[in-house]
Amino acid sequence: MLNLVDRSSKTVPLMGQASKTFDAVVVGAGFGGMYMAHLLRSKGFTVRGFERGSGVGGTWFWNRYPGCRCDVESMEYSYQFSDGLQQDWQWSERYSAQPEILAYAEHVAHRFEILGLFTFNTSVEGADFDDLSRLWTVRTAAGEAVQARYVIMATGCLSTANMPDIAGLDLFDGQLHHTGAWPAEGLDVSGLRVAVVGTGSSAIQSIPHIAAQAQHLTVFQRTPNYSIPAQNGPIDTTRVAEIKANYEEYRRRNKNQPAAFGADFPRNGDSVFDATPEERESRFEAHWGYGGFMFMGAFADLGLDPQANAYAAEFVRSKIRATVKDTATAELLCPDTIIGCKRLCADTGYFETYNRDNVTLVDISAHPIEKLTRSGLVVNKALYEFDAIIFATGFDAMTGSLLKMEIRGEGGLTLKDKWADGPKTYLGLMTAGFPNLFMMTGPGSPSVLANMITGVEQHADYICDLLTWSHKEGFSEIKAEPVAEQTWVEVVNMRSQATLYPRCNSWYLGANVPGKPRVFMPYLGFPDYVARLQEIRDARYEGFVFAAAGG
Ligand code: FAD
Ligand code: NAP
Repeated sequence: MLNLVDRSSKTVPLMGQASKTFDAVVVGAGFGGMYMAHLLRSKGFTVRGFERGSGVGGTWFWNRYPGCRCDVESMEYSYQFSDGLQQDWQWSERYSAQPEILAYAEHVAHRFEILGLFTFNTSVEGADFDDLSRLWTVRTAAGEAVQARYVIMATGCLSTANMPDIAGLDLFDGQLHHTGAWPAEGLDVSGLRVAVVGTGSSAIQSIPHIAAQAQHLTVFQRTPNYSIPAQNGPIDTTRVAEIKANYEEYRRRNKNQPAAFGADFPRNGDSVFDATPEERESRFEAHWGYGGFMFMGAFADLGLDPQANAYAAEFVRSKIRATVKDTATAELLCPDTIIGCKRLCADTGYFETYNRDNVTLVDISAHPIEKLTRSGLVVNKALYEFDAIIFATGFDAMTGSLLKMEIRGEGGLTLKDKWADGPKTYLGLMTAGFPNLFMMTGPGSPSVLANMITGVEQHADYICDLLTWSHKEGFSEIKAEPVAEQTWVEVVNMRSQATLYPRCNSWYLGANVPGKPRVFMPYLGFPDYVARLQEIRDARYEGFVFAAAGG
């Protein structure tokens, strides 16, 4: 045990003083919190973890809707901290389904004895920094309060469901669910009249499965979405053997990609404007065949130039029109926005589902859902009756889970007040005024614009190195410097302005939640981010302020 809290005469002695004091509290037992807690313990820190769910896995614990799977290939969407683990684990599909990813998380938890570090079924309600003792008190919904020097919020970017505030939600007599909090026992919709509200990734993955089971499925669409077939299938065992023969090199190549994945697929450096119409179509066709996100690698300027983007968008619309037999439905399903501005979806049989006799699409772009009644929902004065309504309406992304807690930093400053105009962080790791409080994949880090398991591992490693270094240097307190934070906020913003990302109502901008400040939250470019963090570390963690407790 490092016994960080009583190592210097200047620090406040804690260890042994009370049973509820820890070097670090970790909130959340998704992939981020699991690795963070494991790593801190391995370096000698005493750790206490809290998780609101009854088990590990985070996203993969909560999102059990049919069809849920990753959209980053499983050989990449997995931990890399243990070569033994990545060699032993066998994925069955190119993009594995939720039950397999959850089983993997549970395997990791057992293999590295992580379960015992967490208290499950326990929500953290708040955390208060004490200006005198310089310690955090973390409060749970169960009424427990524990003290810690460091708090690491591994609470997830997509872990607070966005349930629309529609009148009558509590009136509906049938089953009402959100894809992000799917019943653990599953949901059998055989013979039922089902509604799905929303057409984002969760809807696009679940709709083909629900349609196959339900008596009738009605999809309520506010905005159509671009989706590229995932081209999923059983995993290619020859390729797996090749990757496993040199997994480290494979990981290294992927970390050099802008979003830390996809190194095995071409990301072309040329402009769409230099291609003839035939070359353009043939390139788009090839990238369509690679599946999912790989489509956007067809040309270098698709995410940068609106006209270049329009070529890609039109190609996808032509695929939708060729797939969906009913012309009016096909037109409703065709997006007219910037492709890739909202997160691109990857599907298996999504557009084909609208050719089924038991599926209806209702356009609610001009007429929002007015209310729910006992028997269904009302749109444009018409009542649609259902046995089950499924909200696939996404998440209060990136800040939702952090702001749901009452977090009070120095001088009683609340995180809610500090972030009233949008999140402000230094590197997506800390926010000024909240000493020793860290975020994993916080706003201002690549987070949701990168392979997120790679992202959480990189953050856990960095936080752990920072704590260990600071301890060795004789410090017990780390803060973000306000000026460094302000500069970082500007850098994040500037990087997004150079792209087409700010040009649509995406959750990256907070636009999906009424009243949420519009700020582009993730940092674009994983390799640049990692390089910057290394420079900062080499400069003795510039932008962070260190202090020994009491002085
Ligand atoms: P999470 O997995 O969200 O875990 C956070 C945990 O914190 C949760 O278990 C939550 O219950 C807990 N928690 C939150 N607040 C509290 C509190 N106050 N008290 C106690 N516990 C709390 N990313 C990719 O890179 N590739 C993909 O293919 C991909 N697919 C996805 C599919 C879906 C359906 C969704 C929703 C997201 C997907 N993501 C994907 C993003 C995904 O969230 C991350 O990949 C990753 O799982 C995040 O891990 P995490 O530990 O940071 O957060
Ligand atoms: P989402 O992308 O935010 O989509 C939510 C959908 O609900 C949108 O179509 C939205 O319409 C609609 N909606 C929201 N509020 C509504 C309202 N009040 N009335 C009617 N419609 C409403 O959420 P998601 O599909 O859950 O995906 C969120 C993120 O999770 C993804 O972008 C991705 O990062 C991750 N994810 C990944 C996968 C995967 O393939 N691996 C699967 C699921 C989720 P508007 O567009 O008009 O707002």
